[in-house]
Amino acid sequence: MKFDTKVVRAGITPDPTTGSILPPIYETATYVLDEVGRDKGFDYTRSSNPTRQILEDNLAAIESGQYAISFASGMSAVDAALKLLSAGDHLICGDDVYGGVTRHLDNVLSRYGLATTYVNSVNPDEVRDAITPKTRMIWIETPTNPLLKITDMEAMVGIAREHDVLLAVDSTFATPVFLRPLEFGADIVMHSTTKYLSGHNQIIGGVLVTNRKELFDQMKFIQKTIGAVSSPFDCWLNLSGLKTLHLRMKRHEESALQIARFLESHDKVAWVLYPGLPSHPQHDLAKTQMSGFSGMIAFELNGGVEAGRQLMNNVRLCGLAESLGSVETMITHPATMTHADVPAEDRRKRGLGDGLVRLSVGIEDVEDIIQDLEQGLTQA
Ligand code: PLP
Repeated sequence: MKFDTKVVRAGITPDPTTGSILPPIYETATYVLDEVGRDKGFDYTRSSNPTRQILEDNLAAIESGQYAISFASGMSAVDAALKLLSAGDHLICGDDVYGGVTRHLDNVLSRYGLATTYVNSVNPDEVRDAITPKTRMIWIETPTNPLLKITDMEAMVGIAREHDVLLAVDSTFATPVFLRPLEFGADIVMHSTTKYLSGHNQIIGGVLVTNRKELFDQMKFIQKTIGAVSSPFDCWLNLSGLKTLHLRMKRHEESALQIARFLESHDKVAWVLYPGLPSHPQHDLAKTQMSGFSGMIAFELNGGVEAGRQLMNNVRLCGLAESLGSVETMITHPATMTHADVPAEDRRKRGLGDGLVRLSVGIEDVEDIIQDLEQGLTQA
């Protein structure tokens, strides 16, 4: 099956009892056994559920993976992957990742003896130099949240193999439409399915995908033990949203490129980061390792924090909201919203200024969004 067909069809067959073209929502906690020791493949929904299984089969197929595990949130997926590690282990993490990941590493997992070194993953030498005999995993995002840095997948896989450590990639911003890290040789791909993979601001969800049976078994065990599973209804909504992923992503990307160009030429805008712009520092790498640039833009206004505040308070169509990757355009202030828990000093060190604005471009008519930004900028 070609990719676009997999998005719509992989893992989904008509319901054998009714012919329903869409899978039923199996809202059940448990399953009646045929006899002691013999079930129909399901015994308790914390372990597995038929609707969840269909979603997992689809997500595995579109990420070029063998195994997928669907979680109640992106963060619970992150947590399960990190729980492959033990007290005394060392993790290397990109320095521009979702603030919730650093919050978890610094405030929770550090108390359980997991040590983390943050590196600028754009520079493979920095990643290599951070390896210690205790390093067990490299955790990266590409493009990163919120500065849209591109990490060289080939280089990361090379380092991970050379030092026999796991490579985990949070691919939420790229989606499998534009990048499939397992095809490069990554060990684990993670998504917040809250974002593009469901795409309609309806659910909170996450997924881990891998080709390695032993990692799948361990992560599945962690999920079953802790219980952060996605509900059957959320899985069904996710499956619905997924069916248009390839179409939505093309539109997100087309509109984002137009908006990035508009912002770049606007005299109130100091700079714009969008991997599809030639001015992006890793534009060439993005072009070679991704088949598209997705729908996220970061920018800063000449008037700094106050101008950014005016823009965000004055837009009408762009929603001032904490999420991304949905059909509606959303505008975010990372310093006070998504990355508020990263200490101010660390934010500054990572180049995440207080004036930074993040835009998740939706699939509305792009002219309307540009007009909205234009009128917001006149007041900034
Ligand atoms: N990874 C990235 C890149 C994110 O942007 C987010 C949320 O914004 C997460 C992980 C966490 O996902 P969730 O909010 O679904 O728990």
